[in-house]
Amino acid sequence: MSEINHAIKGTADILPDRVYKYQYIEKVMLETAFNFGFKEIRVPVFEHTEVFSRNVGETTDVVQKEMYTFSDKGGRSLTLRPELTAGTVRSMIEHGLLSGILPQKVCYIGGCYRYEKPQAGRMREFHQFGVECFGAASPAADAEIISLASSVLKNLGVNNLRLEINSIGCPECRKDYQKALKDYFYANIDQLCDTCKERLERNPMRILDCKSPVCSKLALNAPKVTDYLCEDCKTHFEGVKSYLDAIGLDFKVNPNIVRGLDYYSKTVFEFISGDIGAQSTVCGGGRYDGLVSKMGGQDIPALGFAIGIERLMLLLENNAVPFPEEKKFDIYIGSMGESARLKAAQLCSELRKEGFSALTDISEKGLKAQMKYADKSGALYSTVIGENELSADKAIIKNMLTGELSEVTLSNISNELLEIKNKQALLNLENSIEGAF
Ligand code: ATP
Ligand code: MG
Repeated sequence: MSEINHAIKGTADILPDRVYKYQYIEKVMLETAFNFGFKEIRVPVFEHTEVFSRNVGETTDVVQKEMYTFSDKGGRSLTLRPELTAGTVRSMIEHGLLSGILPQKVCYIGGCYRYEKPQAGRMREFHQFGVECFGAASPAADAEIISLASSVLKNLGVNNLRLEINSIGCPECRKDYQKALKDYFYANIDQLCDTCKERLERNPMRILDCKSPVCSKLALNAPKVTDYLCEDCKTHFEGVKSYLDAIGLDFKVNPNIVRGLDYYSKTVFEFISGDIGAQSTVCGGGRYDGLVSKMGGQDIPALGFAIGIERLMLLLENNAVPFPEEKKFDIYIGSMGESARLKAAQLCSELRKEGFSALTDISEKGLKAQMKYADKSGALYSTVIGENELSADKAIIKNMLTGELSEVTLSNISNELLEIKNKQALLNLENSIEGAF
């Protein structure tokens, strides 16, 4: 097959037999966020390039190497979003949502685009679920956001993640720290990778985030940001820890967590897995108090996190975390003869109005082929109607799993199908209760 018949490198199709898993994950995420007071926001997939280049940070990998930037036909420079925070902040400011009652809490699910080297858990198109909370400066907010991330992961059945937190201070206390870092890394400059040599002058904290083995080893003994925090940042960080203790969330302070994007201040955190290889950070987030004003909005604090959905899926599947069963179609109505075919279409239409999922033949198949299709469709029940059924106004409905047969009156089919389904549901419940003892 020629290249154009393949999905672009680093992108993935999610085929119909797996989509239910994603729908389930997304539903749990949005419901959990709703329980914490967050409402969904939907922002465009592309923005003016500056929305990202200025705000995600000129010295970050994302901006320097990973953005999908292009000119549109009007000559504007546009970029496919590499993350959703910058676009969300842009939108909140544009629509005046930050001038009313605060905090404002929003969440999102959407595709992100980064030109990276594709590998397990690292794609060029991936999806993030994230939340942003605007206008809450208290450590209670940091703990609540972390608790929300933890609840999302737990509600999905992931219990074995490490929570690592750090404080990277504010621009004030970072000045001394950056100087200490530069001194340390300059003394070891020969060992740094080429990218980090460049980072050293412009943004030395980024070296702590480098994935190269030599740089990460050097980073272990680097000066710790937590030793350089100003009183305000120190008190804030202690506050976050007390709240986490109070709500019973285990964590470890890891002074080397700096996060990959420039807008963070004070608290940063990650949820890390030991099970999915090198791409082990499933969730990353933190506080970004300066971003809203930098983007032209009020001077208000903000914080949030994002979870990579594909990475989370890898984790769920590697750990064989159970998913609820995929929803099945209710009934396939087979037919013999032209008038039965019309009747089948009419019955389906009636059943669908009552909320059932009903299928029938739309490609003029013979009965045998229709039954094969019914089987393959995974429908819970099937029936066949022909001349006899039409004149008697009766048909036999078959439970496709157990083979059990029940007679129904065609003119009352939706009520009777509902009865059959309810009876079966009760039986399933009894069996599962029996199984539990
Ligand atoms: P990493 O250090 O793995 O590159 P990051 O610091 O660039 O991650 P963020 O920008 O904070 O990641 O994004 C938040 C989450 O989005 C990550 O924790 C991860 O789960 C997911 N993510 C980031 N980049 C990718 C990618 N290329 N493919 C799949 N998921 C990704
Ligand atoms: Mg990255």
